Order: sequence, then C-alpha cells, then structure tokens
Amino acid sequence: MNRIAVMTSGGDCPGMNAAIRSVVRTGIANGLEVFGIEQGYKGLMENRIKLLESKDVANMIQRGGTFLKSARSLEFKTDEGQQMAVGNLEANGIEGLVVIGGDGSLTGARILHEKFGIKVVGLPGSIDNDIYGTSISIGVDTALNTICRAVDMINETASSHDRTFLIEVMGRNCGYLALMSAIASGAEAVIIPEVKYNIESIINKIKVRYVEGKSRSVVIVAEGAGSAYDIGKAFQLIGGFDTRITVLGHLQRGGAPSVFDRTLATRLGSAAVKGLIEGRTGVMAGLGNREISFTPLSEVLTKKRDLDETMLKIAEELSL
Ligand code: ADP
Repeated sequence: MNRIAVMTSGGDCPGMNAAIRSVVRTGIANGLEVFGIEQGYKGLMENRIKLLESKDVANMIQRGGTFLKSARSLEFKTDEGQQMAVGNLEANGIEGLVVIGGDGSLTGARILHEKFGIKVVGLPGSIDNDIYGTSISIGVDTALNTICRAVDMINETASSHDRTFLIEVMGRNCGYLALMSAIASGAEAVIIPEVKYNIESIINKIKVRYVEGKSRSVVIVAEGAGSAYDIGKAFQLIGGFDTRITVLGHLQRGGAPSVFDRTLATRLGSAAVKGLIEGRTGVMAGLGNREISFTPLSEVLTKKRDLDETMLKIAEELSL
C-alpha cells in the first residue's frame, strides 16, 4: 500500500482535526503518501483531493471543526455518485481510505467496501455518542465539557431568581449527552428519548425540592425527547414555575477539543492507518475497555448502543 486518503463527513465534531493530523503523520511515518479529501463524499465525487504533508497538519490538534471541511451529499447515495467517487479514488491511485464521521458517513464507507472492494477503515466522529463499537466517539467529551460549563453558568443565574431552567442539548436518538451532563452538572431531572417520562411526576419532585428550600431547578432535555419550549410550557402551566428555556444548539459542536478527544482522535487515527497497512478493511476503529479495537462496519451499523442503566440509576438517585 502506497497511497491512502482521509476525509471527514456528515456532522462535524471537535477532534476531527486531531484525527486527520494523526492519519497524515502516521501514514508519512510508515512510508505512505496521504491525501486529504475535502468536503467528504461530495469532494470525493468532485475530485477535490490533495496531497497532505506533515506541515499541512501543524497547529491543527487544538482546533475545533475540520480543516478538510465536511458536507452532506445526497448524490453519493446513488449508484452514479458512488461510481464517480470510486473512479476518482482509482484515478488518484488511492488504495486505502479513512472515513471520519457518524452513522451516515460510516454507511457510505460500508458501501465503498462491500460494493466496490475499496479498503476502508472508519472512525467514529459524533458528539451524540450513538455509534456502536466504541465506548465513546470523537467529540463527545468536548461537547460534554461545553454543556457543563453552560449549565454551571445558567445555574448561577437560576439561583439568583428562583427560576426553573430547561436546557436542551443535542441527541436525536440518544440521550447520552443529556444523561451524562445532568449527572456532571447536578441537574434536578433529565429527559431522554430512551425513557418514557411523566411530566407531572417531574414537576411534583421539583415542587417538593422548592418546599424544602431549594432556590432553583435545572432540567436537561435531550432534543430527541421533545422540544424544551413545549416541555417548558407544560412546566409553567401545570407547575406554575417561573420557567426559562435555553437551547444550546450548535455551540455544542464547536470549541477546542478536550485533552481526552485529542488523545482519542490521535490513537484512533494511528490505529486506522496501521489497520489499513495490516490489511484490515470494512471495519471501524473504536475504543474498547482501554484498548483500541476494530469492529466490522456491518456490525457497527446494525447494532444499537444500549443506554447505560447504571448511569440512569445514578442520575435518579443523586437528583433526589
Ligand atoms: P453523519 O455521518 O454525521 O451521520 P449523515 O447521516 O448526514 O451524517 O451522512 C453523511 C453523508 O454520508 C451523507 O451526506 C451521504 O453522502 C453519506 N451517506 C449517508 N447515508 C448513506 C447511505 N445510506 N448510502 C450512501 N451514502 C450515505
């Protein structure tokens, strides 16, 4: 293997740059030429592919976002689009590909592997932590730190006015960010898509806390469980609380990656290149217990991460 390429695709996350840097430098250290594909599958179809040198990834590990840019491409979902992408890989002599992204991007990687025989290793990049085959994805730790900083700040203003704050965090099908940030920020309640919630019982619980002398309440809502605005209205109507809503939105995706994300992305990038050199393909590199492991993309994309019931129990017990 002489030439490999790396791309970031789908939703961006902090740590993607650190992963690209690791792929580029590990590749060069092992005698490979490493190409960067701009804007994911869109750029691959448009042949926006450039040779990257070590200096191109200097000063990159600490930057959020992705300097290769990310994109979504409907055209790549078609056979025509895929043929164009494969044609460009072949025209550039690229023998191995590292795809960094979420479930959608990894599905694209699986197709390149299964349908066209392209050697591909995926890396999990998604702040939602919804990807099977890794205990944690690139970007999750940074997003959690960002959420907690925001909740800490909101907590202070909430205390000053005896207010109830509903804070909406990202997580379409997965309440991981909401659950972990609720635990880490000491929130009174958390509402996640995996668990059916009863608004009256949450309101009653908060009322008891107010009677006991608590000055404020914070409820974390995962976006997939419902709109914080709608839930907030019910809090106001049923509970009679002075309610405020904050939707954290895209600030959760930004910012400099945490030390954990920098090192995770670096380890995964290195493993991806070494995996390709060893002949691995159609797999995703992820973090197991402490070690990096490879899971077939067919498994990654058909199995679902379980909600950590222990963490759910901890969140319930500590918010009483
Ligand atoms: P993420 O990777 O963050 O989950 P998306 O779901 O938007 O983001 O997927 C990113 C890109 O991956 C899509 O724009 C598309 O080009 C490609 N992709 C997603 N799903 C498929 C699919 N079923 N077949 C082929 N390509 C796909």
